[in-house]
Amino acid sequence: MIDANELCLDALQALPDPMFIISESGRYIALLGGHDRQYYHDGHHLVNFHLNDVLPADKAAWFLEQIQLTLEKNALRIVEYPLAAEDVEGLPTDGGPEGELWFEGRIQPLPKPIEGERAVIWLASNITERHRLQNQLQHLSETDELTGLYNRRKLIAELERRFAEFRRYHHPLSLIIFDIDLFKQVNDKYGHLRGDAVLQELTELCAELIRDHDTLGRFGGEEFALILPNIRATEAATTAERLRKAIAEHSFQHIGNITISLGLTIAREDDDTIENLISRADEALYNAKRNGRNTYCQQL
Ligand code: GH3
Ligand code: MG
Ligand code: MG
Repeated sequence: MIDANELCLDALQALPDPMFIISESGRYIALLGGHDRQYYHDGHHLVNFHLNDVLPADKAAWFLEQIQLTLEKNALRIVEYPLAAEDVEGLPTDGGPEGELWFEGRIQPLPKPIEGERAVIWLASNITERHRLQNQLQHLSETDELTGLYNRRKLIAELERRFAEFRRYHHPLSLIIFDIDLFKQVNDKYGHLRGDAVLQELTELCAELIRDHDTLGRFGGEEFALILPNIRATEAATTAERLRKAIAEHSFQHIGNITISLGLTIAREDDDTIENLISRADEALYNAKRNGRNTYCQQL
């Protein structure tokens, strides 16, 4: 006959991930499972300590808040959080993974109070590898491979974000779209690979000329966009001219001089969407091309 109680205890002890029972006030009541030192440190000394005893104040407060929210909701909640062995007082740093780890916490209220206090089960799964892959995927989905700049998708998202700030707080916002002049001739004369190298060199040059909170991205082909938050039209025009001049004066490897044309606009109160902004910048760029290239035009 199988002893059901014994089986239950054995199974709990063999849980692949650590399962904490933590009271509403933040006391570690018990810890079961999570014995594989490749994934988890030995946290058994935590039992009977309080979250505040072993964690930095901000982290302890966060854990307590999650416990409270779970008890209020009275249902399973799933959270993700970073934690390193160094964050936890007294945790043996040997025999466990190094550095910052990411965890998924599955928090479930216990049906009955323990010693008069409500409590939760906190199942902590090490998801560090999954988290790293998610970050990598996100980075890839937002980055232009050739230049390392934001791609069109991320640029649009960033412009949406800044435009929402403009609508809500009336922070000024400028947009510059620029395009390499007669780039087809560069490709035709020097080949596509040299053309690619020009796009990379131009990226480095521009990155040095913009402020930290400006966003430069590749809008497509040989067309770039620069989002300039918290800047007036006159300052944005100065930036446009600075970019134009720097590129016109730069000697690109193997190719020598190239020029760009730029179109500049600012967000307006009567703009409904970022499409309004983009089409004005496009129009200004088109005018710059018509005016003989190597210049900027604005459409305010
Ligand atoms: P304009 O001054 O009117 O902009 O002339 P342009 O020749 O630059 O314009 P056009 O649109 O005719 O050609 C753009 C060229 O940019 C054609 C295309 O092959 C090139 N191009 C777009 N993306 C890339 C890229 O990733 N690498 C390289 N090497 N060339 C690219
Ligand atoms: Mg061009
Ligand atoms: Mg173009």
